[in-house]
Amino acid sequence: MAKVCLCLTGRTILKDLELVDRYRSYIDVAELRVDFLDPDERFYIRRFPALAGIPTILTVRRKIDGGNFVEGEGARIVLLAAGLAFADTDRRRNFAYVDLEDDLDVPSLEEAARTFGTKIIRSYHNFNGVDADLEQKLRSLRRTGDEIAKAAVMPQSYEDVAKLYQVAEQTRDIDKILIAMGPHGVSTRILAEKLGSHLSFTSPLVEVASDADIQVAGPGQLDPKTLVDTYRFRSLTKDTKVYGIIGYPLTATSSPQIHNRGYDEKKIDAVYIPFPVQDLPSFFSLADTLDIQGLSVTVPHKETVLSYCSQRSSEVERIGSCNTLVKTSQGWAGYNTDAKGFSDSLLHFIGKQSLWNKRVTIIGAGGVAKAVAAEVYRLKGRALILNRTQYKAKEVAEPLNFAWAGLDNRGIELMDRYRDIIIQTTSVGMEPNIDEDPIELYKFRGKEVVMDLIYKPEETKMLKRAAKAGCKTLNGYDMLLRQAKLQFLLFTGQEYPD
Ligand code: NAP
Repeated sequence: MAKVCLCLTGRTILKDLELVDRYRSYIDVAELRVDFLDPDERFYIRRFPALAGIPTILTVRRKIDGGNFVEGEGARIVLLAAGLAFADTDRRRNFAYVDLEDDLDVPSLEEAARTFGTKIIRSYHNFNGVDADLEQKLRSLRRTGDEIAKAAVMPQSYEDVAKLYQVAEQTRDIDKILIAMGPHGVSTRILAEKLGSHLSFTSPLVEVASDADIQVAGPGQLDPKTLVDTYRFRSLTKDTKVYGIIGYPLTATSSPQIHNRGYDEKKIDAVYIPFPVQDLPSFFSLADTLDIQGLSVTVPHKETVLSYCSQRSSEVERIGSCNTLVKTSQGWAGYNTDAKGFSDSLLHFIGKQSLWNKRVTIIGAGGVAKAVAAEVYRLKGRALILNRTQYKAKEVAEPLNFAWAGLDNRGIELMDRYRDIIIQTTSVGMEPNIDEDPIELYKFRGKEVVMDLIYKPEETKMLKRAAKAGCKTLNGYDMLLRQAKLQFLLFTGQEYPD
């Protein structure tokens, strides 16, 4: 079973030991990155495995391989030798692994490692892409059958990531570690078991790593707790079904927490992974390779994915935007769960069955605003649509016979006639831009029901103002949960757990 390895990038041995203790229950292996230690700390590396009480990798990574070590090769070899010297008869007090790059040729180091039971990881790094001959490269890395071949490559596209999975399949027979670094490679950190990887590298949570005495290691690494708790790393298998979310930049999504928790409770062998996607065609080649079964779709792809759908639900046809793709034998079937998620959430909040007699302002005219407008229309409400780009407000409003205007003084004045319910659907006010308010010129009377589809932060600047004026307010989390539950049913055929 693939192991979880914590990459230790503290400036002192003490800091690294603190990190091991913090994550001990989540990790199987630690990697002592000697290249991050202050020079004086290097005298104590030999004692590290005994102090840490966990199998440890000894690594002294050069700058050219993505590390911090800038001194000469002689000094590096001396450090590696110091780490392997004076082996203890109790092997747990020795380094369990040593990382030697493929171009490092020091037979005495290899002999010392083999004699005392330290496994050699023979590593190769490519920060510019994925080698065309990666399979051959991986096979030729190992000098003897007991070494672990490690290739860490930087994909430039999801097609590159797909290639990594193909190479993993072709090299099932060898002990290896395969990593796609950077934002394209997150799935390779989670799906180590599918890749047949010996271990997956993790780093401390960003808040912990922001400590001045710790530096960030590999780009794209997750923290151990997220890998184990959110992505259920320990229960994933070679056959685990893959689902996920595509969007860009995809920084504020809570969907992985919701879906993975559902799989856990329902004991479904599945995992839900975030894929930050800019280039859709390249992503769909990875979706084929991984046989991805279902996808949530978010900004900016809700309309562009329509061309990938071989079937579209009646909501998708009605609204013109798709937030859910389900793989079928005929291709991708497109659905829209935003619409029902939104209306169920709003109606539940106001305790009504429809929006009959309600005058509603919808701020925004993007993908989700289309779903909101279509639902307000279906529920017999009358609406005004305000958007920064006016022609888009017109495009959404006119087919429904709604009023429209720009997000400007005139638009704000018009709101006086549509203020029973105000629904904010733009990304204005979302983390990290929490000081923004899309309708800062509008004065709340205190009688409006105000819904902001944003859920991070929990209360946007606009919602705070509305609540202060006495309005009833609702954020987007309930809608998110409701639409995710509908997706869960479409993906798995099972109801989301209570
Ligand atoms: P989208 O298609 O990209 O639309 C973005 C909208 O925001 C457009 O109306 C755009 O106006 C407007 N906008 C962006 N920056 C602006 C600015 N600086 N000033 C004024 N208007 C600005 O995105 P979407 O899919 O509709 O999603 C929009 C928001 O809804 C996001 O925050 C998303 O997280 C949230 N959402 C929540 C849920 C949920 O379940 N709670 C579901 C879906 C979406 P222009 O047309 O002028 O560019």
